[in-house]
Amino acid sequence: MLSVQSLQVQYGAVQAVRGIDLDVHEGEIIALLGANGAGKSSTLNALVGLAPASGGKIVFSGQDVTGSAPERFTSLGMTLSPEGRRVFGTLSVQENLLMGAYSMRDKAAVKAAWERVFDLFPILQERREQFAGTLSGGQQQMLAVGRALMSNPRLLLLDEPSLGLAPKIVEQIFELITVLRKQGVTLMVVEQNVSMALEIADRGYVMASGRIAASGTAAELRDSETLQAAYLGAE
Ligand code: ATP
Repeated sequence: MLSVQSLQVQYGAVQAVRGIDLDVHEGEIIALLGANGAGKSSTLNALVGLAPASGGKIVFSGQDVTGSAPERFTSLGMTLSPEGRRVFGTLSVQENLLMGAYSMRDKAAVKAAWERVFDLFPILQERREQFAGTLSGGQQQMLAVGRALMSNPRLLLLDEPSLGLAPKIVEQIFELITVLRKQGVTLMVVEQNVSMALEIADRGYVMASGRIAASGTAAELRDSETLQAAYLGAE
């Protein structure tokens, strides 16, 4: 479904991603792990055209999408729910959701996406007129995921979906990921909660200093010394 070869991301003099390869197959949950600054967010952002890919190749659904504009990724079915939630605080819940559907022409598809999001997150329906900025942290996270789902992605990239949330809400977010997979969505998730991520993931990649330091099944990574080392900052 997604094949990434030698991807590099450079911000001026800073090389955040130094030539990584990864593959995502339809139906999988992939965990992207690593310490702060390892290059995980830069990778996800580059995968949807939001960070500058300075080298490498991205093939999604059989199409070379390297260097494409973000809209192309959305229309092909790959969407990012960014780190830090980034909801528009002074817009209502429903306005935020509609922004996720901005590239969709088909009104019936927008309505179906809308119903699906409210089905997954009844609280968003209750609060649909409210300013997003007045929602709790967990609700804002749900809104960010809901907004990403409005474009009906086949591959959803989630950047730190549980960051800063209370344990009970974190559990709900992980539960949501497994529900989405059952609905046919493929997921790649950047998570600082490594043990929970490896519980739900099929496979994972561990990044350290812009490179893939380890990869394997979730079970292999759980026992991996490289994984421990990546978090201690060693390589
Ligand atoms: P975190 O969990 O802290 O977000 P990360 O693994 O997602 O870490 P990135 O955010 O991708 O890592 O950052 C990788 C490197 O790129 C870091 O050294 C960071 O300071 C740098 N970086 C990220 N974004 C930018 C930017 N817009 N401009 C310049 N440098 C950046």
